[in-house]
Amino acid sequence: MAKKKLSARAARRAGDREAEKLTRDLERLALLEPGHTPGRAIALDAASQVEVAARSIPCPRCRGALRVEDHTAETLEGARLRVAKVACSACGAGRRLYFRLGGPALN
Ligand SMILES: [Zn+2]
Repeated sequence: MAKKKLSARAARRAGDREAEKLTRDLERLALLEPGHTPGRAIALDAASQVEVAARSIPCPRCRGALRVEDHTAETLEGARLRVAKVACSACGAGRRLYFRLGGPALN
């Protein structure tokens, strides 16, 4: 029988699996943070604040700075939202952040 000690490759694979699991956990936790889902859209007074607000949110994976590539007006879950497409300038992970203009929703 082969010895049970992990080869370097197997150890690396195990490390990758750990890293993937950590990333999944971080992404799941991020969904509980403001701005990461339509239901948790961050209230802003004006569309001009979207970029500044998006940049103030750190990358959930690595806490790097997010770069705003684009933002658009969309209707999601019955609410008019601004959706910012952002990418992390450190790890490159892309994501969408959600903002609501004009204070509290009326409906
Ligand atoms: Zn990142």
